[in-house]
Amino acid sequence: MKIICDWENCDQIGSYRAPLEKDNSKKYRLLCIEHIKIFNKKWNYFSDMSDQEVEYFVKSDLTWHKATKSFSSSDNFFNILWNNALEDKLNIFKSESFNEYKRTQLSNTDRDAFDAMELKYDVKWEEIQKQFKTLVKKYHPDKNQGSRKFEDKLKKITLAYSQLKMNIGKKK
Ligand SMILES: [Zn+2]
Repeated sequence: MKIICDWENCDQIGSYRAPLEKDNSKKYRLLCIEHIKIFNKKWNYFSDMSDQEVEYFVKSDLTWHKATKSFSSSDNFFNILWNNALEDKLNIFKSESFNEYKRTQLSNTDRDAFDAMELKYDVKWEEIQKQFKTLVKKYHPDKNQGSRKFEDKLKKITLAYSQLKMNIGKKK
C-alpha cells in the first residue's frame, strides 16, 4: 500500500520524510516531492534565524493571532510558524517592537553601551566596529582643531566599545 502525501488536500504518493518537530527528528510525516521542497524551504528559513529571532517569532502576537485563526487538527506547531514566517519574513524583524524586544533581552550595561554608540540594538558586530571607527574620527581632538571638548564622550564611546566587544564580539 502506498502512503499518500500528508500535505493538506494532496493526493500524491508520500515518499519523503519531513520531521514533525525541530528537536525530534524521530517523528515524521511523509510528503510528496513537491511538498518536501516547500517544507525544506521553510525549514531552512528558520535555521537562518538567530535564537533570539526564533524566540521573538514564537512569542510575537502576530504569530499567535494567526495561529489561532488557522489552527486545525492536521496542522502542527512548526507548520503554522513556517507559514507565518514566509508571510512576515520581510516585516517582522524590521519592526520597532522587535527592536524593543531585543532591548529587553540586553543587560543594562550592554543597553547603555549601544546607546552611547548611537546604535540600534540589533546590529551585528561588524557594524559596531564600523561605528566605533566613525565615532573616533568624529570626536578625536585632531578632527576638532585640537579641542579636547569631546574627551569625555570619546572615553564613554571607548568604554562602550570594550563592553560590546566582550559580549557581542566574542559570539562571532
Ligand atoms: Zn504533496
